Amino acid sequence: MTATPSPLPPFDPSDPLGLDDLLTDEDRAVRATVRRWAADRVLPDVADWYERGELPGIRELARELGAIGALGMSLTGYGCAGASHVQYGLACLELEAADSGIRSLVSVQGSLAMYAIWRFGSEEQKRQWLPRMAAGEVIGCFGLTEPDHGSDPAGMRTHARRDGSDWVLTGRKMWITNGSVAGVAVVWARTDDGIRGFVVPTDLPGFAAPEIKHKWSLRASVTSELVLDEVRLPADAVLPDARGLGAPLRCLGEARYGIVWGAMGAARTCFEAALDYARTREQFGRPIGGFQLTQAKLADMALELNKGVLLAHHLGRRRDAGTLRPEQISFGKLNNVREAIDICRTARTVLGANGISLEYPVMRHATNLESVLTYEGTAEMHQLVLGKALTGLDAFR
Ligand SMILES: Cc1cc2nc3c(=O)[nH]c(=O)nc-3n(C[C@H](O)[C@H](O)[C@H](O)COP(=O)(O)OP(=O)(O)OC[C@H]3O[C@@H](n4cnc5c(N)ncnc54)[C@H](O)[C@@H]3O)c2cc1C
Repeated sequence: MTATPSPLPPFDPSDPLGLDDLLTDEDRAVRATVRRWAADRVLPDVADWYERGELPGIRELARELGAIGALGMSLTGYGCAGASHVQYGLACLELEAADSGIRSLVSVQGSLAMYAIWRFGSEEQKRQWLPRMAAGEVIGCFGLTEPDHGSDPAGMRTHARRDGSDWVLTGRKMWITNGSVAGVAVVWARTDDGIRGFVVPTDLPGFAAPEIKHKWSLRASVTSELVLDEVRLPADAVLPDARGLGAPLRCLGEARYGIVWGAMGAARTCFEAALDYARTREQFGRPIGGFQLTQAKLADMALELNKGVLLAHHLGRRRDAGTLRPEQISFGKLNNVREAIDICRTARTVLGANGISLEYPVMRHATNLESVLTYEGTAEMHQLVLGKALTGLDAFR
């Protein structure tokens, strides 16, 4: 006797591959919490913040993000949530579905500044900074890029010299997210002993962080220059376990991992905006979603969006299993940011003239993703990482 097959679950346009099957109940709960927070606190105002080029109330937002466990989410101890990397990824996706600037705030806080202290800091540094950073009471920034050294930070000029037992830090960092609002900066500098990381309270004499204005991307995010003019630090300001460029690169790996997920959040919002518009906007007497050319766009967007989410899940599982390689993070960052931009641009065409208006989220996401394509390693750097892994030949210089 053959059993009657159970009916297939219905097709869900918001999850066409049924990827929710991959999630545990706890994963779904984390996702719902972050989605709700973003819907309440970011979506109603983000277009206005974007237009003004500000992130007002950033300190309050940081405290709220701390309260929902989103800061240093996958770190353990010191007030951090100890969530899985898949859960952290889901949080990044939901935050970036609202705006890449909010996800950047969280990535820099958790994956760069906090991770650097958590992974390379002394017990004292961890106790001093991490609980307050996890709670969002102290905002952190991460200073690696300089005006003349971006993709190739090995050439950095910022330096730290010994003066007795103190360190004296001098130099400039550029394009630093959260810089002007940070209470603590993790700054990378060359020393007689190679590149080292320093934990720098931002109220010290000689430290300044002027905000960078006139950005046409990530406008709802604070981006700053760091000016370090003979900033005197005690001997224990250095991160004891960070020696050489590998340490900041390891932090970047953490942040890139979050971007693999986050970019798909921006893409999801643009896809949904295009789908909704295509169903309701009429031209030539019928919804534009009824034209084959529009359907081809929507089908291709759905393919890349869901393949990207599937890729993020796969990498997240490897990260949780401790088997995720840096080249695989490059794979994910390169693919997902590139495809996310493509989805946003295609969505823009579906919306026609409305696509360029801030009344819709599409152009905001598309311009944000231009920064995301460049920071945490440009697309070209990730192509070179993959090219080297594939061929065994280094084409960086
Ligand atoms: C909004 C925003 C926020 C940022 N936040 C931070 C932050 O918090 N902390 C921080 O340290 N940095 C931050 N950055 C800086 C970011 O990481 C750098 O912009 C990035 O690393 C690229 O450096 P660059 O802009 O100097 O470009 P460059 O390195 O000058 O590159 C310019 C172009 O040349 C290409 N290129 C360079 N070398 C090669 C090569 N060998 N082969 C082929 N092509 C090459 C690049 O891919 C790129 O297309 C931020 C940037 C932005 C835009």
